[in-house]
Amino acid sequence: MEIKKINRSKIYLLLLKNQGLSRQEIVLRLGLSLPTVTQNIEELITEGLVEEFGFIGNTGGRRARAYRAVLNARVAIGLDVTKHHITCAAVDLSGNLIECIRIRRQFERTDEYYKILGSLVDEVVKKINIPPARVLGVGIGVPGLVTADNKRIFYGEILNFGGATSAEFGKYIPYPVSLHNDANAAGFAEIWSHDFLANSFYLMLSNNIGGSVLINGQIYSGENLRSGEIGHLKIVPNGKQCYCGQKGCFDAYCAATVLSNHTDGNLEKFFEKLRAKDPQAEKMWDEYLDNLAQAVSSLNILFDSTVILGGYVGEYIEDYLDDLKTRTAKLHPFNNDSAYLQACKYKKQAIAAGAALSYIDEFIASV
Ligand SMILES: [Zn+2]
Repeated sequence: MEIKKINRSKIYLLLLKNQGLSRQEIVLRLGLSLPTVTQNIEELITEGLVEEFGFIGNTGGRRARAYRAVLNARVAIGLDVTKHHITCAAVDLSGNLIECIRIRRQFERTDEYYKILGSLVDEVVKKINIPPARVLGVGIGVPGLVTADNKRIFYGEILNFGGATSAEFGKYIPYPVSLHNDANAAGFAEIWSHDFLANSFYLMLSNNIGGSVLINGQIYSGENLRSGEIGHLKIVPNGKQCYCGQKGCFDAYCAATVLSNHTDGNLEKFFEKLRAKDPQAEKMWDEYLDNLAQAVSSLNILFDSTVILGGYVGEYIEDYLDDLKTRTAKLHPFNNDSAYLQACKYKKQAIAAGAALSYIDEFIASV
């Protein structure tokens, strides 16, 4: 029984990653027998997970029928809830973002707000035109720390929503609902989109700083579900006040607001000023990069892994990556090229996508 499940899962994964393979190709790639492949494909077709996909090539004079995974056989929805915005996204079984809506809306812990979450989910499901039975669930990324069962926020200083539950958030959502720490969700989305990247530290440079430790493609949560909270690493003894109550935390120096406060809360404008060589923006950016370099090189010293720069500032970092690499290289005892530094692949949708991917990942593992 166990071997049967493993074979089925191998065939399904292969078809998810390669659209349009013949049975003979599957036999060759996986080293399975033709009857095993045929039987599994028939089962997967019956379940609506695989479909015929024309013909390919010539095998012994006959063209072989091709098969592919039905990518929208299941979908998952993700929400990203921040102080001022809500993002709602849908992802399919290959992790593609197939729909995304972002609205400006102040967070409040009220029924009215939760109704908006429900209607955003409905709107996305309607737009992708998928029967509700094929929606696996709704993952909600939040700027807080979440219990291991994904049901309750146990630290929620940023939105003052400690104690809020998935039932509360999902009151108007007709699907299974789970809560996810924002940085962990975004980090999970990044690692999911890089097949080869098993280990990484995801650094979320948004209006608050978050981090996620990813080992063997999974989130390392820590003993108390607080791993990766790099925002509260002290980089200046007795330095600037942090919202956590301590002083000199990395968050107080490298949150996106440190930059956007200079341009009325608009980060895009800050980077416009920087490109226009505004002296004050240049000075702030210079200090910002020095502080960032310090934290990033500490991360690499600790984890010896890729460091992905994401969040609001991560959206703009590509153009400044070489400069940052030069600064981190100077601080690093072993590594002089800073090749471990990477810009994020996802932009604003990372948190919503990652929260949704938790359902996709679970479903694929169950096939
Ligand atoms: Zn702090």
